[in-house]
Amino acid sequence: MRASASTLITPWTPSAADSQNRPAFRRALLRWYDAHRRDLPWRGTRDPYRIWLSEIMLQQTRVAAVLEHYRIFLERFPSVEALAAASEAHVLAAWSGLGYYRRARMLRRCAQQIVDQYRGSFPNKSEALIALAGIGRYTAAAIASIAFAEPVAVVDGNVERALQRLIGKTLTTRQTWQHAQEFLARSRPGDFNQAMMELGATVCVPREPRCIVCPVRKWCATRGEVSRAEVPLRQQKKEIWCALEYREEDGNGAGSGKVRLLQRPRKALLMPGMWELPLSSAPPRPVQAAAHWRTFRHSITVTDYTVHVFWNTLLGNAGLPYASRSEKGEWIAAEHIPRLPITGLTRKILKASGII
Ligand code: SF4
Repeated sequence: MRASASTLITPWTPSAADSQNRPAFRRALLRWYDAHRRDLPWRGTRDPYRIWLSEIMLQQTRVAAVLEHYRIFLERFPSVEALAAASEAHVLAAWSGLGYYRRARMLRRCAQQIVDQYRGSFPNKSEALIALAGIGRYTAAAIASIAFAEPVAVVDGNVERALQRLIGKTLTTRQTWQHAQEFLARSRPGDFNQAMMELGATVCVPREPRCIVCPVRKWCATRGEVSRAEVPLRQQKKEIWCALEYREEDGNGAGSGKVRLLQRPRKALLMPGMWELPLSSAPPRPVQAAAHWRTFRHSITVTDYTVHVFWNTLLGNAGLPYASRSEKGEWIAAEHIPRLPITGLTRKILKASGII
């Protein structure tokens, strides 16, 4: 029988919520983290610029997707001063493929604030960090604890899930932050915060927690009994059509031609001002089977798209919020596209086609 998360499954379990068990809990977690943490490029640095960049990139984005962008971004903008001085289009181009482009705009604005107000040095307290553009409670605590060893706890989705299971109660947001702060190892706050996040990301995972290998199962109230409320929302599914219009300029093959791209409205809610291939919510009419090239899967927030890509086909329908008739737009040289802020879907299709 499955118990609800508000019930302790094993009442004799020495609870992590009990303050006398916390020193042993912290030692076990940190020992596990020291031995098993993933080797990620932002680990092992105390440079607040690099930590901040990784934290912003990792919001709502998988680690695997962040790795390559993190490297490219640091090559193009090696310091907060370089980022502050860059144009918005340049920053968006480096961000292209990560999604949630508001993060990139806020990143640049925040860099400008750090240069203008703090002469390029990050403030070392979470209280001051939280006043900067795009930095919320979580990011402020992550930078302050990892870069400056301030004893402040972080709560992200992974920490929240692990804490609820450890304590065996459904917690309010305020209670979650409070418990996280009480659990924190004040001697190593940055490592402890990362260890809690690592635990949630790799062991105490959403659907099938790996309790058998969990370093803190001894103090866990639920040992994997998952509340129904934790099951993630179902993704919506949508089908769209995309026109890949490519024209050779000089017969030198892929990479030497031009592609028709459209710029999304500056006031669009999603990805404003970014460039993309023409899209439609309806297939071209009459359907030209010969022109159908490939079908892609692509997810944006809570929607999974099936994207049918047609070669050199005009799309007439404008059923999507910002759908674009494919006779509009601009013909852009393939060699210039990597420097443009393009959407992740467009980048995926142009890469698969060999155009970029
Ligand atoms: Fe508890 Fe299992 Fe999560 Fe470990 S992995 S904290 S034992 S639910």
